[in-house]
Amino acid sequence: MTLHESPSLEKEPADRCCQFLAETWLERGAIAEIIRHEARGNHLRVVWAPSGARPKSQFVVLGHYDTVYPTGTLGKMPFRVEYGKAYGPGTFDMKAGIVQALFALDALRELHATVERRLVFLWTSDEEIGSNSSRRLIEEEAKRSDAVFVLEPSLGPRGLAKTSRKGVGEAKLIVHGRASHAGLAPEKGVNAIHELAAQIVRIEKWNNLRQGITINADIVSGGSRTNVMADRAEAMLDLRAWRNADMRALERRLHSLKPVHRGAKLEIHGGFDRPPLERKHSAALFARAKAIARELGFSLGEAAAGGGSDGNFTAALGVPTLDGLGAVGDGAHAAHEHIVVNTMPQRAALLAALLASC
Ligand SMILES: [Zn+2]
Repeated sequence: MTLHESPSLEKEPADRCCQFLAETWLERGAIAEIIRHEARGNHLRVVWAPSGARPKSQFVVLGHYDTVYPTGTLGKMPFRVEYGKAYGPGTFDMKAGIVQALFALDALRELHATVERRLVFLWTSDEEIGSNSSRRLIEEEAKRSDAVFVLEPSLGPRGLAKTSRKGVGEAKLIVHGRASHAGLAPEKGVNAIHELAAQIVRIEKWNNLRQGITINADIVSGGSRTNVMADRAEAMLDLRAWRNADMRALERRLHSLKPVHRGAKLEIHGGFDRPPLERKHSAALFARAKAIARELGFSLGEAAAGGGSDGNFTAALGVPTLDGLGAVGDGAHAAHEHIVVNTMPQRAALLAALLASC
Protein backbone atom coordinates (compact mmCIF):
# COMPACT_ATOMS: atom_id res chain seq x y z
CA MET A 1 0.00 0.00 0.00
CA THR A 2 2.92 2.31 0.66
CA LEU A 3 3.89 1.86 -2.99
CA HIS A 4 0.71 3.73 -3.94
CA GLU A 5 1.75 7.26 -3.00
CA SER A 6 -1.23 9.28 -1.81
CA PRO A 7 -0.45 12.92 -1.00
CA SER A 8 -3.38 14.89 0.42
CA LEU A 9 -2.88 17.61 -2.17
CA GLU A 10 -2.61 15.50 -5.34
CA LYS A 11 -5.95 14.13 -6.40
CA GLU A 12 -4.86 11.75 -9.14
CA PRO A 13 -2.37 9.64 -7.24
CA ALA A 14 -4.62 9.74 -4.18
CA ASP A 15 -7.53 8.42 -6.26
CA ARG A 16 -5.37 5.57 -7.54
CA CYS A 17 -4.52 4.60 -3.97
CA CYS A 18 -8.21 4.78 -3.06
CA GLN A 19 -9.08 2.52 -6.02
CA PHE A 20 -6.41 0.03 -4.96
CA LEU A 21 -7.85 0.00 -1.45
CA ALA A 22 -11.38 -0.47 -2.74
CA GLU A 23 -10.28 -3.53 -4.73
CA THR A 24 -8.47 -4.97 -1.75
CA TRP A 25 -11.60 -4.77 0.37
CA LEU A 26 -13.88 -6.00 -2.39
CA GLU A 27 -11.81 -9.19 -2.49
CA ARG A 28 -12.90 -9.75 1.09
CA GLY A 29 -16.55 -9.78 0.17
CA ALA A 30 -17.13 -6.32 1.58
CA ILE A 31 -19.09 -3.59 -0.16
CA ALA A 32 -16.74 -0.80 -1.15
CA GLU A 33 -18.24 2.54 -2.03
CA ILE A 34 -16.01 5.22 -3.49
CA ILE A 35 -17.26 8.64 -2.44
CA ARG A 36 -16.09 11.02 -5.09
CA HIS A 37 -14.75 14.47 -4.41
CA GLU A 38 -14.04 17.27 -6.85
CA ALA A 39 -10.79 18.63 -5.50
CA ARG A 40 -9.47 16.14 -2.97
CA GLY A 41 -8.84 12.43 -3.24
CA ASN A 42 -11.96 10.27 -3.15
CA HIS A 43 -13.04 8.77 0.14
CA LEU A 44 -13.70 5.09 0.64
CA ARG A 45 -16.54 3.65 2.68
CA VAL A 46 -16.41 -0.10 3.15
CA VAL A 47 -19.32 -1.99 4.67
CA TRP A 48 -19.07 -5.53 5.93
CA ALA A 49 -22.19 -7.07 7.34
CA PRO A 50 -21.92 -10.32 9.26
CA SER A 51 -24.09 -13.12 7.92
CA GLY A 52 -26.99 -14.34 9.96
CA ALA A 53 -29.09 -12.09 12.10
CA ARG A 54 -29.60 -8.52 10.98
CA PRO A 55 -27.07 -6.36 12.72
CA LYS A 56 -28.67 -4.13 15.30
CA SER A 57 -26.23 -1.30 14.77
CA GLN A 58 -22.72 -0.55 13.64
CA PHE A 59 -19.14 0.17 14.57
CA VAL A 60 -16.92 2.50 12.56
CA VAL A 61 -13.26 1.90 11.95
CA LEU A 62 -11.79 5.23 10.96
CA GLY A 63 -8.61 6.32 9.27
CA HIS A 64 -7.06 8.25 6.45
CA TYR A 65 -5.01 7.02 3.51
CA ASP A 66 -3.51 10.40 2.61
CA THR A 67 0.04 11.25 3.59
CA VAL A 68 2.02 14.46 3.94
CA TYR A 69 4.53 13.35 1.29
CA PRO A 70 4.39 14.65 -2.29
CA THR A 71 4.61 12.24 -5.20
CA GLY A 72 8.16 11.06 -5.75
CA THR A 73 9.03 10.80 -2.05
CA LEU A 74 9.29 7.02 -2.50
CA GLY A 75 12.45 7.69 -4.53
CA LYS A 76 14.14 9.20 -1.48
CA MET A 77 12.38 7.11 1.18
CA PRO A 78 11.86 3.73 -0.48
CA PHE A 79 9.59 1.17 1.11
CA ARG A 80 11.84 -1.42 2.72
CA VAL A 81 11.90 -3.82 5.63
CA GLU A 82 15.10 -3.79 7.68
CA TYR A 83 15.70 -5.41 11.05
CA GLY A 84 12.01 -5.90 11.63
CA LYS A 85 11.01 -2.36 10.73
CA ALA A 86 9.07 -1.35 7.64
CA TYR A 87 10.10 2.09 6.39
CA GLY A 88 8.45 4.39 3.88
CA PRO A 89 6.25 7.45 3.50
CA GLY A 90 3.03 7.07 5.43
CA THR A 91 3.80 3.63 6.85
CA PHE A 92 3.26 4.74 10.45
CA ASP A 93 0.76 7.53 9.76
CA MET A 94 -1.23 5.54 8.92
CA LYS A 95 -1.09 2.96 6.18
CA ALA A 96 -0.07 0.14 8.49
CA GLY A 97 -3.23 0.88 10.47
CA ILE A 98 -5.32 0.26 7.36
CA VAL A 99 -3.46 -3.01 6.73
CA GLN A 100 -4.12 -4.07 10.32
CA ALA A 101 -7.82 -3.38 9.86
CA LEU A 102 -7.77 -5.53 6.75
CA PHE A 103 -6.21 -8.40 8.69
CA ALA A 104 -8.69 -7.89 11.52
CA LEU A 105 -11.51 -8.43 9.03
CA ASP A 106 -9.72 -11.47 7.59
CA ALA A 107 -9.47 -12.94 11.08
CA LEU A 108 -13.16 -12.39 11.80
CA ARG A 109 -14.13 -14.04 8.50
CA GLU A 110 -11.79 -17.00 8.78
CA LEU A 111 -12.77 -17.73 12.36
CA HIS A 112 -16.48 -17.28 11.58
CA ALA A 113 -16.54 -15.07 14.64
CA THR A 114 -19.88 -13.87 15.92
CA VAL A 115 -20.07 -10.22 14.97
CA GLU A 116 -23.28 -8.55 15.96
CA ARG A 117 -22.76 -5.24 14.32
CA ARG A 118 -22.31 -4.03 10.82
CA LEU A 119 -18.73 -2.86 10.37
CA VAL A 120 -18.05 0.32 8.45
CA PHE A 121 -14.46 1.10 7.51
CA LEU A 122 -14.05 4.71 6.48
CA TRP A 123 -10.79 5.66 4.77
CA THR A 124 -10.54 9.34 3.97
CA SER A 125 -8.19 11.43 1.84
CA ASP A 126 -7.58 14.72 3.63
CA GLU A 127 -6.91 14.24 7.34
CA GLU A 128 -3.43 15.68 7.02
CA ILE A 129 -4.81 18.96 5.69
CA GLY A 130 -7.66 19.42 8.14
CA SER A 131 -10.39 17.05 6.86
CA ASN A 132 -12.51 19.74 5.22
CA SER A 133 -13.80 17.40 2.54
CA SER A 134 -14.44 14.45 4.86
CA ARG A 135 -15.61 15.94 8.12
CA ARG A 136 -19.32 15.75 7.38
CA LEU A 137 -19.02 12.20 6.11
CA ILE A 138 -17.15 11.16 9.26
CA GLU A 139 -19.67 12.85 11.54
CA GLU A 140 -22.69 11.37 9.75
CA GLU A 141 -21.21 7.89 9.99
CA ALA A 142 -20.26 8.33 13.63
CA LYS A 143 -23.79 9.43 14.56
CA ARG A 144 -25.11 6.08 13.34
CA SER A 145 -22.51 4.12 15.31
CA ASP A 146 -22.07 2.69 18.78
CA ALA A 147 -18.34 3.27 18.77
CA VAL A 148 -15.50 4.58 16.64
CA PHE A 149 -12.10 2.90 16.47
CA VAL A 150 -9.40 5.16 15.05
CA LEU A 151 -6.39 3.50 13.48
CA GLU A 152 -4.06 6.46 13.78
CA PRO A 153 -0.57 5.53 15.00
CA SER A 154 -0.12 4.55 18.62
CA LEU A 155 2.31 6.39 20.87
CA GLY A 156 5.81 5.27 21.75
CA PRO A 157 7.55 1.90 21.56
CA ARG A 158 4.90 0.28 23.77
CA GLY A 159 2.08 1.22 21.40
CA LEU A 160 -0.05 3.29 23.76
CA ALA A 161 -3.60 4.01 22.73
CA LYS A 162 -4.63 7.65 22.65
CA THR A 163 -7.44 8.24 25.11
CA SER A 164 -7.41 12.01 24.91
CA ARG A 165 -6.36 14.53 22.34
CA LYS A 166 -6.13 18.27 22.44
CA GLY A 167 -8.57 20.38 20.53
CA VAL A 168 -6.70 22.26 17.82
CA GLY A 169 -7.40 25.51 16.04
CA GLU A 170 -5.95 28.33 14.07
CA ALA A 171 -6.80 32.01 14.20
CA LYS A 172 -5.69 35.08 12.35
CA LEU A 173 -5.33 38.43 14.07
CA ILE A 174 -5.19 41.35 11.67
CA VAL A 175 -4.34 44.85 12.86
CA HIS A 176 -5.29 47.90 10.82
CA GLY A 177 -3.34 51.04 11.64
CA ARG A 178 -2.62 54.20 9.66
CA ALA A 179 0.46 54.69 7.51
CA SER A 180 2.49 57.85 7.97
CA HIS A 181 6.06 59.05 7.42
CA ALA A 182 8.01 57.91 10.46
CA GLY A 183 10.12 61.07 10.37
CA LEU A 184 7.87 63.81 8.99
CA ALA A 185 4.54 63.01 10.62
CA PRO A 186 4.82 60.30 13.27
CA GLU A 187 1.92 61.86 15.19
CA LYS A 188 -0.43 61.14 12.27
CA GLY A 189 0.31 57.42 12.08
CA VAL A 190 -0.97 54.41 13.96
CA ASN A 191 1.67 51.70 13.88
CA ALA A 192 -0.03 48.38 13.26
CA ILE A 193 3.09 46.44 14.18
CA HIS A 194 3.32 48.11 17.59
CA GLU A 195 -0.33 47.31 18.14
CA LEU A 196 0.17 43.70 17.10
CA ALA A 197 3.18 43.39 19.41
CA ALA A 198 1.08 44.68 22.31
CA GLN A 199 -1.67 42.17 21.52
CA ILE A 200 0.82 39.30 21.34
CA VAL A 201 2.22 40.21 24.76
CA ARG A 202 -1.35 40.11 26.08
CA ILE A 203 -2.19 36.82 24.36
CA GLU A 204 0.97 35.13 25.57
CA LYS A 205 -0.27 35.46 29.15
CA TRP A 206 -3.25 33.23 28.36
CA ASN A 207 -0.98 30.21 28.06
CA ASN A 208 -1.47 27.76 30.88
CA LEU A 209 0.85 24.81 30.44
CA ARG A 210 -0.49 23.01 33.53
CA GLN A 211 -4.01 23.02 32.11
CA GLY A 212 -2.70 22.37 28.63
CA ILE A 213 -4.01 25.61 27.18
CA THR A 214 -1.66 27.03 24.57
CA ILE A 215 -1.85 29.92 22.19
CA ASN A 216 1.13 30.68 20.00
CA ALA A 217 1.78 33.38 17.43
CA ASP A 218 3.76 31.32 14.93
CA ILE A 219 3.71 33.51 11.82
CA VAL A 220 3.73 37.30 11.85
CA SER A 221 3.95 39.80 9.02
CA GLY A 222 3.43 43.48 8.43
CA GLY A 223 4.96 46.73 7.29
CA SER A 224 6.55 47.87 4.03
CA ARG A 225 9.56 50.18 4.64
CA THR A 226 11.53 51.28 7.65
CA ASN A 227 10.46 54.92 7.28
CA VAL A 228 6.75 54.11 6.92
CA MET A 229 4.66 53.41 9.98
CA ALA A 230 2.94 50.13 9.18
CA ASP A 231 -0.73 50.35 8.36
CA ARG A 232 -1.24 46.63 8.58
CA ALA A 233 0.17 43.67 10.48
CA GLU A 234 -1.07 40.20 11.11
CA ALA A 235 -0.34 37.10 13.13
CA MET A 236 -1.34 33.47 12.66
CA LEU A 237 -2.08 31.81 15.97
CA ASP A 238 -2.03 28.13 16.92
CA LEU A 239 -4.64 27.26 19.58
CA ARG A 240 -4.81 24.12 21.70
CA ALA A 241 -6.74 22.89 24.75
CA TRP A 242 -7.59 19.62 26.49
CA ARG A 243 -11.09 20.58 27.50
CA ASN A 244 -14.09 21.86 25.61
CA ALA A 245 -14.73 24.51 28.23
CA ASP A 246 -11.16 25.83 27.90
CA MET A 247 -11.47 25.85 24.14
CA ARG A 248 -14.61 27.97 24.29
CA ALA A 249 -13.10 30.34 26.84
CA LEU A 250 -10.02 30.83 24.71
CA GLU A 251 -12.13 31.58 21.65
CA ARG A 252 -14.21 34.07 23.59
CA ARG A 253 -11.16 35.90 24.89
CA LEU A 254 -9.65 36.06 21.46
CA HIS A 255 -12.75 37.47 19.84
CA SER A 256 -13.19 40.10 22.51
CA LEU A 257 -9.71 41.61 22.18
CA LYS A 258 -9.73 45.42 22.14
CA PRO A 259 -7.04 47.68 20.64
CA VAL A 260 -4.37 49.15 22.90
CA HIS A 261 -3.39 52.06 20.64
CA ARG A 262 -5.89 54.74 19.82
CA GLY A 263 -6.97 54.51 16.18
CA ALA A 264 -5.94 50.88 15.69
CA LYS A 265 -8.55 48.36 14.60
CA LEU A 266 -8.53 44.62 15.12
CA GLU A 267 -9.97 41.92 12.93
CA ILE A 268 -10.06 38.37 14.26
CA HIS A 269 -10.84 35.25 12.24
CA GLY A 270 -10.89 31.56 12.97
CA GLY A 271 -10.92 29.48 16.10
CA PHE A 272 -10.88 25.79 16.92
CA ASP A 273 -11.25 23.41 13.96
CA ARG A 274 -11.06 20.20 15.97
CA PRO A 275 -12.65 20.08 19.41
CA PRO A 276 -10.78 18.09 22.06
CA LEU A 277 -11.18 14.34 22.40
CA GLU A 278 -11.93 14.17 26.09
CA ARG A 279 -11.11 11.03 28.03
CA LYS A 280 -14.68 10.58 29.20
CA HIS A 281 -15.54 9.54 25.63
CA SER A 282 -12.77 6.95 25.39
CA ALA A 283 -12.49 5.53 28.92
CA ALA A 284 -14.99 2.67 28.58
CA LEU A 285 -13.63 1.52 25.22
CA PHE A 286 -10.10 1.71 26.52
CA ALA A 287 -10.97 -0.45 29.52
CA ARG A 288 -12.40 -3.04 27.16
CA ALA A 289 -9.36 -2.88 24.87
CA LYS A 290 -7.02 -3.23 27.83
CA ALA A 291 -8.86 -6.31 29.06
CA ILE A 292 -8.80 -7.90 25.60
CA ALA A 293 -5.09 -7.14 25.23
CA ARG A 294 -4.42 -8.87 28.53
CA GLU A 295 -6.26 -11.96 27.27
CA LEU A 296 -4.15 -11.81 24.12
CA GLY A 297 -1.01 -11.72 26.24
CA PHE A 298 0.15 -8.13 26.09
CA SER A 299 -0.47 -4.99 28.04
CA LEU A 300 -2.06 -1.94 26.48
CA GLY A 301 -1.35 1.46 28.00
CA GLU A 302 -2.80 4.85 27.24
CA ALA A 303 -1.53 8.32 26.53
CA ALA A 304 -2.73 11.83 25.83
CA ALA A 305 -1.77 13.49 22.55
CA GLY A 306 -1.26 17.19 21.92
CA GLY A 307 -2.30 16.86 18.28
CA GLY A 308 -5.75 16.22 16.87
CA SER A 309 -7.17 13.57 14.56
CA ASP A 310 -10.55 12.78 13.04
CA GLY A 311 -11.32 11.02 16.32
CA ASN A 312 -11.72 14.50 17.80
CA PHE A 313 -14.81 15.04 15.63
CA THR A 314 -16.52 11.80 16.58
CA ALA A 315 -15.80 12.11 20.31
CA ALA A 316 -17.13 15.66 20.28
CA LEU A 317 -20.47 14.22 19.12
CA GLY A 318 -20.51 12.09 22.26
CA VAL A 319 -19.81 8.87 20.34
CA PRO A 320 -17.39 6.59 22.25
CA THR A 321 -14.06 6.86 20.43
CA LEU A 322 -10.77 5.06 20.93
CA ASP A 323 -7.80 6.45 19.04
CA GLY A 324 -4.22 5.34 18.47
CA LEU A 325 -5.20 1.73 17.79
CA GLY A 326 -2.99 1.66 14.71
CA ALA A 327 0.62 0.76 14.18
CA VAL A 328 3.52 0.74 16.60
CA GLY A 329 6.44 2.70 15.19
CA ASP A 330 7.98 6.12 15.00
CA GLY A 331 8.87 9.06 12.79
CA ALA A 332 5.45 10.21 11.53
CA HIS A 333 5.98 12.88 8.84
CA ALA A 334 9.76 12.36 9.03
CA ALA A 335 12.45 10.70 6.94
CA HIS A 336 12.82 7.75 9.33
CA GLU A 337 9.08 6.97 9.44
CA HIS A 338 8.61 3.26 10.12
CA ILE A 339 6.55 0.65 11.88
CA VAL A 340 7.54 -2.39 13.91
CA VAL A 341 6.40 -5.29 11.77
CA ASN A 342 5.97 -7.98 14.40
CA THR A 343 3.49 -5.89 16.37
CA MET A 344 1.01 -5.89 13.49
CA PRO A 345 -0.64 -9.29 14.11
CA GLN A 346 -1.18 -8.42 17.76
CA ARG A 347 -2.75 -5.05 16.94
CA ALA A 348 -4.93 -6.63 14.25
CA ALA A 349 -6.07 -9.28 16.73
CA LEU A 350 -6.93 -6.60 19.27
CA LEU A 351 -9.04 -4.74 16.73
CA ALA A 352 -10.77 -7.93 15.59
CA ALA A 353 -11.67 -8.78 19.17
CA LEU A 354 -12.96 -5.26 19.80
CA LEU A 355 -15.15 -5.43 16.70
CA ALA A 356 -16.56 -8.79 17.73
CA SER A 357 -17.14 -7.92 21.37
CA CYS A 358 -20.54 -6.96 22.83
ZN1 LIG B 1 -2.72 10.41 10.78
